[in-house]
Amino acid sequence: MSLVERDLAVIWHPYTQMKTAQPPIPIVRGYGASLYAEDGREYIDAVSSWWVNIHGHAHPYIAQKVAEQIQKLEHVIFAGFTHEGAVQLAERLLQLLPSNQKKAFYTDDGSTAVEAAIKMCLQYWLNKGQQRTKILAFNNAYHGDTFGAMSVSGRSAFTAAFDSLLFDVEFIDLPDADNIEALKSQISELKSQISCFIFEPLVQGSAGMIMYEAEYLSQLMAHCQSEGILLIADEVFTGFGRTGKNFACDYVQVLPDIMCFSKGLTGGTMALGLTTCTQAIYDAFLSEDRMKTLFHGHSYTANPVACAAALASLDLFVGPSTQQNIDRIGAKHAAFAERIRDHRSIRSTRQIGTILAMEWETGNDTSYFSGLRDKLYHYFLDKGIILRPLGNVIYILPPYCISDTQLDYIYQSIGQALDEI
Ligand code: PMP
Repeated sequence: MSLVERDLAVIWHPYTQMKTAQPPIPIVRGYGASLYAEDGREYIDAVSSWWVNIHGHAHPYIAQKVAEQIQKLEHVIFAGFTHEGAVQLAERLLQLLPSNQKKAFYTDDGSTAVEAAIKMCLQYWLNKGQQRTKILAFNNAYHGDTFGAMSVSGRSAFTAAFDSLLFDVEFIDLPDADNIEALKSQISELKSQISCFIFEPLVQGSAGMIMYEAEYLSQLMAHCQSEGILLIADEVFTGFGRTGKNFACDYVQVLPDIMCFSKGLTGGTMALGLTTCTQAIYDAFLSEDRMKTLFHGHSYTANPVACAAALASLDLFVGPSTQQNIDRIGAKHAAFAERIRDHRSIRSTRQIGTILAMEWETGNDTSYFSGLRDKLYHYFLDKGIILRPLGNVIYILPPYCISDTQLDYIYQSIGQALDEI
């Protein structure tokens, strides 16, 4: 039996379960911005494999650090014990973050980083003797697929089967010049019920790379802060250079109380998440009363091998070539966006840092899973490029090591698709 036949016999993949779905492509190795299939075909990974591979695939430096760690200490319970990698990673990351972030709580991935953040906020108020159970979030947000994270994600296909079980969330529109004052009033009316406001800073990734301005996010954050509402910046996707700066919050004037990280944290090598917070939040859980501690922690919390991968990824991230590459990709994206802006098949383009999104004209078809999405996905696969459209939005989100030649090939292929599809 081929690998694909064996896969189809035993595996339940995410999102691709429909009877009409194509069988998975067997990948045997990765190098730089490319993945290689069993049949030898090369695929340029233009989406960094679910937005995680910031340094490209199978990076030898990360591989070496992971191999060294696994031979020394592969795991240790993180309640009552600690290890060098976890401490060093927290020390170094906190140095890079907004100055009010003082404590790091390890989680397993993006969803659980969000889950921990929400639990911190809800319990923060309980520990302070207040019941605040409402959460503020943006329409169309995506924060993960565990129950808490799902609750604060805009109601969609992800949540449809569970809507009646989800938390009490007030959804608001993204802020702009026209609605900012109305949003502030809406928040003020509910303020004593709202525990926290969770947001994807500057870019709503899963919604289709929807971008909004730092100025209005700053205003909304400042308003929430003045009403005593805790701020959770979900940087799971935007963190580690995606938006051109280290973190999207670096564009914003107001400091969040809690930040969530995953994806780029280990450069796409191991699953790991991190939720950081202010001293004030941490202190609200520090008590003689055992019931005030945060009852949250997983078997693999702060796994030493994952921490070693994250430290190696961080070494590369702060190295000299990363920012240069981010700027190089940003400039090339901007030039390409300018070239195609007026094409009849393009409704709009948007770009920040290494993220370029292009909204395809769909005529009257407005369904998310329109035929266009699948057509585009397979068109690019046939050209050896992994581009997974979100509805009618094509986006490029490459590993930072992608070469100019590879980028030009992707742009050229998109240009052809614009004329042909
Ligand atoms: N938050 C954001 C902003 C995300 O983009 C994602 C994943 N797309 C998540 C949380 C969930 O992360 P994970 O898939 O690692 O659970």
